[in-house]
Amino acid sequence: MRKHQFLVIGLGRFGTAVATTLYQLGHEVVAIDEHEENVQRVMNHVTHVAMLDATDERALSALGIQDFDVVIVAIGADVKANILTTVAAKSAGAKYVVSKAVDDMTRRVLEKVGADLVVRPEHDMGVRLARKLVRPHSFDDIDLGTDYAIAEVTATGRIEGTLKDLNLTNRFGVQVIALKTGSQVRISPKADDRVVAHDTLVVVGTLESVERLISYTEDT
Ligand code: ATP
Repeated sequence: MRKHQFLVIGLGRFGTAVATTLYQLGHEVVAIDEHEENVQRVMNHVTHVAMLDATDERALSALGIQDFDVVIVAIGADVKANILTTVAAKSAGAKYVVSKAVDDMTRRVLEKVGADLVVRPEHDMGVRLARKLVRPHSFDDIDLGTDYAIAEVTATGRIEGTLKDLNLTNRFGVQVIALKTGSQVRISPKADDRVVAHDTLVVVGTLESVERLISYTEDT
């Protein structure tokens, strides 16, 4: 499994859960907060910690923010700090910024200022819970343990052709359980179903096999 590098900014309940879980899953995690007690609380549960004001673009640059695969801005209540940090992270060269929004207006602002993904944990969890209550076996609730995964993989030019020709089961050890082209979904696709770039393949396999396929598709 490729180790990803994450920078988590803001160590409230949400940021702490994201940071420590990513670390437990074997990734490199740098966690920052402006308050010493929050930094100290997580220091033994992540790779590195730093205490700084994340609205300071120069401080983020000095941290090498452009080298992280994903930056998570987990500041909630202080909306101004959340927006300024998102702007500073993008300006300092962060590749992919996930920002937490407390409400829909903040979500819109964060999208406008360049956040690549905005999550609203309370809202999103509420939607998930509602769906789970009426559809108990919904897709993302399948627990495959720690060795297996179901993942969405976006096809690139390296993954084009019929499923038969792509031969993903023999080459990577994954099974394609669904194929998405735009809004069209093919469940249990057939061997002669064709994959083109930007399609989404829903695959199941060991973590290693899924990682291998993802690395292969992302290689240029
Ligand atoms: P929770 O995730 O617990 O619901 P929350 O959404 O209320 O928390 P906040 O308490 O606003 O989030 O912020 C989360 C953390 O972000 C706090 O620990 C706070 O110290 C930190 N934080 C806020 N502003 C900054 C900043 N400018 N730089 C670094 N850390 C900050």
